Amino acid sequence: MPKAGFKSITISEEVYDKFFDVYQKNKPELIMKGVNSFAGYITYTLEDMMLKDKTFARYAPKLEKISVDDDRVIIKDNIKNRIAEVTIQRGELYCQLCEDKNCFHIGFVFSLPDVYEVLNSKGIRHPK
Ligand SMILES: [Zn+2]
Repeated sequence: MPKAGFKSITISEEVYDKFFDVYQKNKPELIMKGVNSFAGYITYTLEDMMLKDKTFARYAPKLEKISVDDDRVIIKDNIKNRIAEVTIQRGELYCQLCEDKNCFHIGFVFSLPDVYEVLNSKGIRHPK
């Protein structure tokens, strides 16, 4: 039985091994992102997937838009319980929290229709 506040699921060994393999290979990078365990990696992956899925994002407010300025979007990250500040730097979006140009906060910024329009008019596109 998992401890309080946790639930367990059963998946096939094949699926487990596939994910575990990726986890092992990306361990150093994941640790830098604050992911220290395999369970943490799965959680992170699922959260990331949910955020990338626009329909899901709409119903699961893991991230909330706090304010939008001309060159700055403030986001509340309810997963990390932190404020993420996404600014425009040299024609690209940059997340001050992750120190990254392509984290899920930036993905979220691009999923906001009003912000997307402004970015689009400035010629800023989502890095793929
Ligand atoms: Zn970020």
